This record gives sequence, structure tokens and C-alpha cells, in this order.
Amino acid sequence: MLKGKTALVTGSTSGIGLGIAKALAAQGANIVMNGFGDVAGPKAEIAALCVKVAYHGADMSKPAEIEDMMKYAAAQFGQVDILVNNAGIQHVARIEDFPVEKWDAIIAINLSSAFHATRLALPAMQAANAGQGWGRIINVASVHGLVGSAEKSAYVTAKHGIVGLTKVTALENATGGVTCNAICPGWVLTPLVQKQVDAKAAAAGISNQVATAQLLGEKEPSLQFTTPEELGALAVFFCSPAGNNVRGVAWNMDGGWAAQ
Ligand code: NAD
Repeated sequence: MLKGKTALVTGSTSGIGLGIAKALAAQGANIVMNGFGDVAGPKAEIAALCVKVAYHGADMSKPAEIEDMMKYAAAQFGQVDILVNNAGIQHVARIEDFPVEKWDAIIAINLSSAFHATRLALPAMQAANAGQGWGRIINVASVHGLVGSAEKSAYVTAKHGIVGLTKVTALENATGGVTCNAICPGWVLTPLVQKQVDAKAAAAGISNQVATAQLLGEKEPSLQFTTPEELGALAVFFCSPAGNNVRGVAWNMDGGWAAQ
């Protein structure tokens, strides 16, 4: 379905970004990866799906590096047709104790980076398809884009912000072929959440298994993690012809978290 298209997925060396990149690659899209840590392993996993894969190591907190990544992506495969703004970090502390540099980093990586990548991707998307436009912008927000949790001020602020950015991007392109939507996962067992499980287990002197059960029990009625594969399938739907008129939604996949 996406053969000949190019998808740039930020933060795709791990977790949800890697899951979405693999789901888009399975539909035939060439992938431009981004993110830190091991690159060779995830790159091989995507390449195994018989698509072209490139990588740019932009630090998403740095607008100049984002600009460089967007130019690189266009030079590799022609243009970016699908942009998935996914890179993100977390820090947990009460507001009065929240380190200022962590606040700045979370706002830069989880929110401002999506503005920069979007503003740089839009002109080519709007000009695609003989000027009628075609493009998909998918923002990986969070259930924390819809509801709050204590001790996550920067994260909740950034995620509410990205839901707002999603709506404005969708509205500014509503009469063309470029859509923008947000995905709002509940708990997904990635390194980002494993750190929170480990901290909970250490603080309460409980096992990892008990801490995991408590984490789910506090917020997620289904008592199940959402998986990167499930989130990838939702991203594929947004890219499908059936998603043509889905514009500006913040779609939660959260085991009922926000329904409470
Ligand atoms: P993860 O830690 O597995 O992956 C994060 C990715 O972002 C990695 O590839 C990492 O290298 C990259 N990254 C971090 N800082 C970066 C930077 N400055 N520049 C470029 N890349 C950077 O985490 P994840 O759980 O897969 O999170 C992905 C997204 O999903 C985040 O936006 C997160 O807020 C969101 N999310 C996660 C959950 C969850 O439960 N795991 C729930 C809701 C939303």
C-alpha cells in the first residue's frame, strides 16, 4: 500500500518508533530512521522487510540538526511523504523539585521538535500529487495529551501541546491531501516505561513483577500493555485511503485509561 513512499520516523531506534517504522516498512515504505543507541540492529530489522533504510542521528532538541535531517531525508529518497514525530523522553518529579534542564529538554524533544519537523516537511507534502498534495503527519502523543498525572508536569504539558499542534496542522491543510493525527498510547512496555517500573520497584522494595502489576492497575483498566505492533497498525490505518478524512484526531489506545 505504501510502496514508493518515504516515511521519516523520529526516535525509531527503539520502542514505539521502531514498531511504527516496521509496520510502515511492511507496507512497502522506505524508512528514514532517527534516534540514539544501537542503530545497526533496528536498521537490519527494518531492512529485512525489503525496503530501503537510511539513518540520520539528529538530536531532536536541536533545530539546526532537525533541519539537516529533513534535507538528508529528501536527498536520500526524493521527499518525505509520511512524518512520524515520535522521539520522546520522560522525567518524573514534583513541580517544586523538577530540574529546569529536564523541563527544557522535554519541551524541546517531545514538543518543539514536532513543530520543526512539521514546518520543514509540509511544503513538499503540499506540492505532491501534482499540487493536490499528499502527506501524512502522525504525532505520537500519549494518553497524557488528554489527561494529567502527578509528577509529570513537563511531559503532560508537552503532550497536551502536541495534541494542539496536531489539530492546527490538520486544520491548516484540511482542504488538501495532507492529514495530521495524533496517537495517544497508554502504557507500552518500552525502555521509557521500564525505567518507571524499576524506580517503583526500588522505591517500594517490591519485585519487578509486582511493580508492573501496580503500574497497570493504577491507570489502565485492561491491565494490559499496548504494543508497538498495535500502534504501528493504527499508523498504517492513518496512511491508508480509508484514513483520508480522518483529520486532527487524538486517538487513544490506552486500555480504557482516559475513559474513566
Ligand atoms: P523509547 O525510550 O523506547 O524510545 C525513544 C526513542 O526516542 C529512542 O529511539 C531514542 O533514541 C529517541 N530519542 C530520545 N531522545 C532523543 C533526541 N534528543 N533526539 C533524537 N532521538 C531521541 O520510548 P518509547 O516508549 O518508545 O517512546 C516513544 C514515544 O512514545 C515518546 O514520544 C513517548 O512519549 C511516547 N509514549 C510512550 C508511552 C509508553 O508507555 N512507552 C506511552 C505514551 C506515549
